[in-house]
Amino acid sequence: MRGNRKCGTCDACCTVLEIPSVPSEIGKPCTHMTGSGTKRCGIYAQRPSECQGFVCHWLAGIGPSSSRPDRSGIMAHLAGEFGEIVVAHILREGADTTQKGRAVLEDLMRDTRAAGMQMLIRRSYIQID
Ligand code: SF4
Ligand code: SF4
Repeated sequence: MRGNRKCGTCDACCTVLEIPSVPSEIGKPCTHMTGSGTKRCGIYAQRPSECQGFVCHWLAGIGPSSSRPDRSGIMAHLAGEFGEIVVAHILREGADTTQKGRAVLEDLMRDTRAAGMQMLIRRSYIQID
């Protein structure tokens, strides 16, 4: 959680990202997603430091509060060796063409430009329902 934002039932990053220290494949749910309810991570209390430290742009307070990745279908984060690039994942087909999705991408692009960075948009469709 950052500020008043909480991941809640979102766990998009547990599927869309490859976490080096856990058995996961890009685009497939982490094999530790064995729980149910708000936190599906079966090892949440002992999850690796990469998972504990990961903060997507939404969690960092960027973009409208209603655009949590599981709701907007878009999840962005810093990437690159020095966190020098923003990657925006389109999680659901068409998520970038809705009014909400376009607004999220525009916010992200504005923020990225203001930081003097570049943004890469990837179509990384996953099951996030
Ligand atoms: S994608 Fe963002 S909001 Fe969703 S679980 Fe990961 S860090 Fe939290
Ligand atoms: S270990 Fe837990 S927090 Fe980390 S990617 Fe897997 S399910 Fe998500």
